[in-house]
Amino acid sequence: MGRPAELAVRLGWHMVRNGLAKRRKRFPLVTMLEPLEACNLACDGCGRLREYEPVLHRRLTPDECMAAVEESGAPIVSVTGGEPTIHPQIAEIVSRIVRRKKFVYLCTNGLLMGRVMEQVPPSRYLCWVVHLDGTAETHDRAVRRQGVYAIARENVRKAIERGYRVCSNTTLFHGSDPADLHALWRDLTHLGFEGAMVSPAYDYEAVPDRQLFLRRSEAIDTFKKVLDPAQTEDMRLYNNPLYLEFLRGERQFEKCMAWATPTYTVMGWRNPCYALADSHSPRLVDLIPKRHETFLLLFLIGLTAIAGVESLFSQLKPWSEAVGAELREMMPFLDPITVKPGD
Ligand code: SF4
Repeated sequence: MGRPAELAVRLGWHMVRNGLAKRRKRFPLVTMLEPLEACNLACDGCGRLREYEPVLHRRLTPDECMAAVEESGAPIVSVTGGEPTIHPQIAEIVSRIVRRKKFVYLCTNGLLMGRVMEQVPPSRYLCWVVHLDGTAETHDRAVRRQGVYAIARENVRKAIERGYRVCSNTTLFHGSDPADLHALWRDLTHLGFEGAMVSPAYDYEAVPDRQLFLRRSEAIDTFKKVLDPAQTEDMRLYNNPLYLEFLRGERQFEKCMAWATPTYTVMGWRNPCYALADSHSPRLVDLIPKRHETFLLLFLIGLTAIAGVESLFSQLKPWSEAVGAELREMMPFLDPITVKPGD
């Protein structure tokens, strides 16, 4: 099963409607929704469990989730966390977003997919995204529990069999093995998944083991091998090809578009972005940078107005001086006292 054509059409329409019709320069494309931050695993590189430790007990209600989805307005919603499937109302949350015809990517470690599949039927608006960092040995080591890979793979197989859309999500760390990842993606391709998403592990400050994360030069070397077109031509890679070029070091991006993927958590909108949490805000608008163009326009209007007033005064000056001279002659008492040399 491939990515639905409707997704590309809806995303394109969303961009035209906001960019051209509403003349908005910055607007969300994907809502990152975290209904809880708790998880039933404790992976070495997980930033969320550490960053949100004091609020791991909190859960967003379905109404709070829907309010965030509406506030963002993006046509795609990535439901993540924490582990969304342990939220007691996850079926209601997902069903309500699907009923709004938003494309839901439901991220999971794959352990409890069966519980949700019993309550939420397959839909073209719903895609599972199963976290797999390698084949059995590699993945179980990354998530620090034996047997997780086997359960997750079996749930992927069952989900595809029942007609769900399924993707995988792989995070690369220091020491990730390209050959092992190729073996994983070949197996998933054989099962009939929709595609593999891949990214480097985010360098969360809260994670104590700094050695886990790839430095930029090491990341480029690793991604060149992992995403080698000759090695991956028979696999389905899901990411945007421009992003894959960036990962291989073939393309640079100068501007960050954090506002395109705003993240709503149990503490509000994460500021400034998905990867960094300097603060949280109750309003999405606080995350979107002010439009410098507006300030520039106002500045230019101000300059033009000042120049116009000055020019008007300079044109009136000879006339006003002449009138002043006339008046002074007619009414000398209006003339200010002037002290002439020699008086
Ligand atoms: S499965 Fe995801 S949320 Fe859970 S501990 Fe691992 S990285 Fe964190």
